[in-house]
Amino acid sequence: MLIAIDPGHGGKDPGAVGAHLLEKDINLNISLKLREILVQRNIDVIMTRDKDVTLELQPRCDIANNSKADYFISIHANSFKDSDAKGTETYAFSKNSIGNKLADHVQKAIVSTLNTVDRGVKYADFYVLRYTDMPAILIETAFITNKDDENLLITKPDLFALAISNGIMNFLSITDANWAQQDLIKLKELGIIVDYHDPEVCVKWGELAAVINRVLEVFKK
Ligand SMILES: [Zn+2]
Repeated sequence: MLIAIDPGHGGKDPGAVGAHLLEKDINLNISLKLREILVQRNIDVIMTRDKDVTLELQPRCDIANNSKADYFISIHANSFKDSDAKGTETYAFSKNSIGNKLADHVQKAIVSTLNTVDRGVKYADFYVLRYTDMPAILIETAFITNKDDENLLITKPDLFALAISNGIMNFLSITDANWAQQDLIKLKELGIIVDYHDPEVCVKWGELAAVINRVLEVFKK
């Protein structure tokens, strides 16, 4: 499992500017902490940048595509001319995609951990979402232009990273289950199991015996 982390902006491009923070710095801060947590959880990470350098959008996609990363996570902070605007939103390229599922989990994890306003999962034709080969999301962690949100970003960057990591891990455990579901569908097609089953549910001895006998019958044919 290889995850590409993309800290938005950098170098000559500060991104959004808050009263105390530059977006490029908080993006990098959260991204480096996210890398640390994911590596501890035995997930390989590649960074599009790990220091304050200018990086165009295509090279960011190239780094992820060339390394054949499984998922792409772009980290940003939001801004708006009205300083009342606040909260978290996560973008996927299209609805009902794998990226959409990943975005759902990450959005939920951030909002429930940080108590930020839930602005929901959104869809956008952003460059890094379009030109990456793998499922990709772009997280707008919080509003740098809002006093409460900026304070959260200043005081709790570790918690943002932990929440994002938890969202990713929740998503991965569910897609693993989906992978096992393909095996269950195959067994059902062969008549070895009768009903569709949740991959996480335990099997009774009677059911196991029945399954083994049906397997033997399939082999006899
Ligand atoms: Zn940004």
